[in-house]
Amino acid sequence: MSIPGSGLAKGLAVTLKTLTRRSTTRQYPDVEPDLPPRSRGVIALLEENCTVCMLCARECPDWCIVIDSHKEEVVVPGAARPRQRNVLDQFDIDFSLCMYCGICIEVCPFDALHWTPEFEYAEYDIRDLLHDKDRLGAWMPTVPPPPAHDPRGEPAKEESSAAKKAAAP
Ligand code: SF4
Ligand code: SF4
Repeated sequence: MSIPGSGLAKGLAVTLKTLTRRSTTRQYPDVEPDLPPRSRGVIALLEENCTVCMLCARECPDWCIVIDSHKEEVVVPGAARPRQRNVLDQFDIDFSLCMYCGICIEVCPFDALHWTPEFEYAEYDIRDLLHDKDRLGAWMPTVPPPPAHDPRGEPAKEESSAAKKAAAP
């Protein structure tokens, strides 16, 4: 059987302990939050890397990526026929649908998509959460540099082949 009033004393003890504890409230927006560099804030597009392979749009579980392009002939000096290349006309991501899974970034074979920790793009109109290629491209300067190589890790394939080429007579 518990002593009468012991519950109240226990509750007051918890209150007193919490009162003396240092507050961890972040004073955002007056003070910028200290986010980890690889935070998933918004997706940036490096347009010149995009080959319009459509992998990201096909793999996106929310169907929130819209891509459109046209083909262009490029005359290569010395080649028998002109080459064809895809030219990106439209690249939109609808952030009102995006669930920030990162699949599009993972599957892009050409490193055209990158996470940036920027998160201040709330809108009053939900339609403004559709970012076109210019807006996605404008996020690129906020992409943090890649983490440094693990000194004990294996060198990247590109590094090894470049070193072999450099060593060749
Ligand atoms: S993060 Fe996920 S949901 Fe968002 S655009 Fe990429 S694949 Fe689609
Ligand atoms: S996967 Fe990469 S290269 Fe392919 S369309 Fe998407 S962004 Fe462009």
